[in-house]
Amino acid sequence: MPADTFADSLWSATASPAQALPTLQGDQKFDVAIVGGGYTGLSAALHLAERGVRAAVLEAHEPGWGASGRNGGQVNPGLKLARAELRTLFATDLADRMYDAAAGAPKFLFELTRRTGIDCAPVETGTYRVAHSAPALRTLEAAARTLNAEGFAVRMLDKRAVADEIGTRGYLGGYLDPRGGNLHPLEYVRGLARVAVARGASIYAGSPVVALERVNDGWRARTPGGMVNANSVIIGTNGYTDKLWPGLAQSLLAVQTFQIATAPLTGADSRAILPQRQAVYDSRRLILYFRKSPDDRVVLGGRASFSVAPRTADYAVLRRALTGLFPALATVPIDYRWAGRVALTRDFLPHLHEPAPNLFVALGYNGRGVAMATRMGQVLADLASGNRDIPFPITAIRGIPLHPLRQPMLHLAMHYQSAMDALGY
Ligand SMILES: Cc1cc2nc3c(=O)[nH]c(=O)nc-3n(C[C@H](O)[C@H](O)[C@H](O)COP(=O)(O)OP(=O)(O)OC[C@H]3O[C@@H](n4cnc5c(N)ncnc54)[C@H](O)[C@@H]3O)c2cc1C
Repeated sequence: MPADTFADSLWSATASPAQALPTLQGDQKFDVAIVGGGYTGLSAALHLAERGVRAAVLEAHEPGWGASGRNGGQVNPGLKLARAELRTLFATDLADRMYDAAAGAPKFLFELTRRTGIDCAPVETGTYRVAHSAPALRTLEAAARTLNAEGFAVRMLDKRAVADEIGTRGYLGGYLDPRGGNLHPLEYVRGLARVAVARGASIYAGSPVVALERVNDGWRARTPGGMVNANSVIIGTNGYTDKLWPGLAQSLLAVQTFQIATAPLTGADSRAILPQRQAVYDSRRLILYFRKSPDDRVVLGGRASFSVAPRTADYAVLRRALTGLFPALATVPIDYRWAGRVALTRDFLPHLHEPAPNLFVALGYNGRGVAMATRMGQVLADLASGNRDIPFPITAIRGIPLHPLRQPMLHLAMHYQSAMDALGY
């Protein structure tokens, strides 16, 4: 199995074709140069273009080639941390602004698709969070009480309701959060690219930025074929962050995560499993998440391994998980297998940096970037156009201790987490 599985995904097989884009040639001048053509970079480009700011996206491959074109398409509300946890880390005002921005990110995304006419098979019927163990169920019950007190109207489900609404007896209960949803992730990112170009942004594909240089008060971004001179630079490279900016890759754990998609379901299976097409994610440390695709397949993902390249064994873990949850699907073929990289941070929060004047970085969505990266693109557009009234703190880039040893350490951690999940802790 090749390490790059972009072309192997269900989404690549079912998305409308990518638009033809140029490669950067020669010397160009823009207001803002954006490194990375995923949700972060393209949302920033779109929001800048809508303000009349001339932005150029420089993407090493094609828009959506990274996680944005390969993910599960779950539009999740919120950060991993609850409001009370954020308030222990930040001043109350800032903590509340962060929490509210993340809580509202799905609404922000769905409104953006409606406003711009991006057709990405959006489903706005909510997200289930389900418990694999009794302690996890107690945690979810407490979380649901807090969310209800905050006015989000989540609905608790017992084991029977989970079986009726999701079609599996694999969970003890859970809740439905009406803010969530799902979409076709590659259609969405290609739609962002199309709308950004239509509004005046430039996007260069096959144009990896190999150096960033300070020139007078501005920046020069070099690619093998040319250079962009710009007043500001935005970096949105998340799990694909390379050596471009010193120390950035060491501030993250880039982790491979995996997806499988079944053949289209028919008859009773189709009616029993997620008839309302919500997204689901569970309480395991190594989270399992699933949904139905627009063409009625079950798409299931999980952090099956910390290996650098996808292996057959990683997909076999997901196949077993699928059959465990839905025994009726034991003989349904798996049509697609693919993987991509997410970026984990030590504090489980997305990070926003300004390591030099007019150089802005946003990354570290911890596997929840569909809505958050879209929202963060607007924050970056604010910063690059001089508006510093933003709902996230700008922090220093901090390396993760023992980063060079991350592979063996992650491997050990994965085995520990998998054992704890199996024991029901
Ligand atoms: C398998 C999988 C499933 C997921 N499921 C979900 C989900 O269901 N819900 C959810 O919310 N999140 C999910 N995520 C996470 C989500 O996809 C990411 O958080 C989000 O896409 C990050 O967007 P981004 O634009 O920041 O980065 P990416 O989409 O990863 O884009 C980064 C881009 O930067 C480019 N790049 C890197 N270096 C350079 C350079 N030097 N020059 C030019 N270009 C460069 C890369 O080619 C890449 O295209 C999943 C991720 C994966 C991999």
